[in-house]
Amino acid sequence: MMNRPLEPGGTIGIVGGGQLGRMLSFEAHRLGYRVAVLTGGAKDTPGGRVADVEVAASYDDDLAVQQFVDLSDVITWEFENVEVSLLAELAARSDVPVRPAGSVITAAQDRGRERRALMAAGAPVAAFREVATATDLDRAVADLGLPVIVKRMRFGYDGRGQVRLTTADQAAVGGVVEALGPERLLVEEVVPFDVEISVVVARGIDGEVAHHGVLENVHVNRILDTTVTPPLSVPPRVVGAAVELATAIVRHLDLVGVLCVEMFVAGDSLVVNEIAPRPHNSGHCTIEAASTSQFGQHIRAICGLPLGDGSCRPAAMVQLLGDLWKDHSGRQPVWSEAMSDPGVHLHLYGKEEVRNGRKMGHITCTDTTVERALQRALAARRRLRRRS
Ligand code: AMP
Repeated sequence: MMNRPLEPGGTIGIVGGGQLGRMLSFEAHRLGYRVAVLTGGAKDTPGGRVADVEVAASYDDDLAVQQFVDLSDVITWEFENVEVSLLAELAARSDVPVRPAGSVITAAQDRGRERRALMAAGAPVAAFREVATATDLDRAVADLGLPVIVKRMRFGYDGRGQVRLTTADQAAVGGVVEALGPERLLVEEVVPFDVEISVVVARGIDGEVAHHGVLENVHVNRILDTTVTPPLSVPPRVVGAAVELATAIVRHLDLVGVLCVEMFVAGDSLVVNEIAPRPHNSGHCTIEAASTSQFGQHIRAICGLPLGDGSCRPAAMVQLLGDLWKDHSGRQPVWSEAMSDPGVHLHLYGKEEVRNGRKMGHITCTDTTVERALQRALAARRRLRRRS
């Protein structure tokens, strides 16, 4: 396996065709790399549209995956809900490094394995049980106490595939298993958190680690709505502890690339909720806030290059969901209005199909204080709404 740096001019293969791959491609191109994207089947994807080659095929199509592997000098992921085995096997046979390794992706795509990996790394997690039937769920509720959150074990994202259970009523318990099953489910206590944060940490092939500090996140309907950095409401000692925790986890996983660790802060305590072995929505503000963004760090790490400076100036990101279009009968939001503030950075992901809850883009502002940055970003989003 390659341990020397992949020099610019080489080709980075990205599994997944979404906006994270798109923003990774921009960075890869900036450094002179070529990019191949494997989309999972869709054509003209946000990532594929800016890559050098888009392989629009399913992740279990042997020929297409081999073609993608043949195009790539190193393979990475912008999406972890993929059957890993074929890709990992073909890449290994062709001696193409996969970073982060397939084993990390497999651990991150199953909430049970993820929890076990986190505990092995010494990270605090919410009390949980793994269940498969209504009887198991009854027992878990008796152990953990109500309310609980029941999550689909695999392939849940943006709060999809999860239900809050507030009664032990037979019909309610059976209904949850019916709605989320039949596969295994993860049941966990509700953490009475004050605030949600994440830490995006990068690790190079030589074990060097860099981070962007703590990102403070607000979710609306379980979808990330705003991120600010530095955090507004996290005590400094908790900030330090969160960065240490993320660093311990990335080292324990022996991960090369970027890892996002999502955590709940309750008083002075931290509870890790989820990890994502790739750039993350909450790290988008690093594009403008840091001299090397999460995307830049990821490309550097997987190519075996030294990491950059990830420290951030005060910044805020606000998400733009498809709902913004629906608000004014399908017409485009008024982009020029948002941009009337010259400090507004508008990012659109090039998605044609508009759906409620679909992430279509985001706005970032930086400023002298995080409060000002957030005010400007929120004001820009408000100006997008057409007055008619
Ligand atoms: P997840 O899909 O695990 O990222 O969950 C989406 C969101 O649901 C989180 O960002 C939290 O706002 C909320 N949530 C998930 N798990 C818990 C929990 N155990 N306690 C409280 N809130 C939770």
